[in-house]
Amino acid sequence: MSETTDTIFGKIIRREIPADIIYEDDLALAFKDVNPQAPVHILVIPKKPIAKLADAESQDRDVLGHLLLTAKHVAEQAGLTDGYRVVINTGPDGGQTVYHLHLHILGGRQMAWPPG
Ligand code: 5GP
Repeated sequence: MSETTDTIFGKIIRREIPADIIYEDDLALAFKDVNPQAPVHILVIPKKPIAKLADAESQDRDVLGHLLLTAKHVAEQAGLTDGYRVVINTGPDGGQTVYHLHLHILGGRQMAWPPG
């Protein structure tokens, strides 16, 4: 999938397409993954359209930190008291398909390692 300045996640931020949004603040949005890979599968995205982690810059330090704290908050909200996994797929070899930076929160089952 090609990198563009806008993606399906930009449309979700702007409410142009529906999503099951579970958290929002001025910097971040969290919503359920449409194709869940675990009983709980939530995506946390910045409102700023950073295409991928490899494109993040030092000026993005605050938003990157905020995304991790949002992941923690959303996981607590989802009741993942026994733990969870946070994944960032980056670029083609990382398996990224949507070029708007996102954290996957996966939980509700035992995760395997190594990942595929
Ligand atoms: P990636 O492979 O880029 O790390 O993850 C993209 C994720 O976005 C996938 O898990 C996929 O299921 C999810 N996704 C793709 N399109 C949509 C959509 O329109 N709505 C929602 N909620 N999730 C989506």
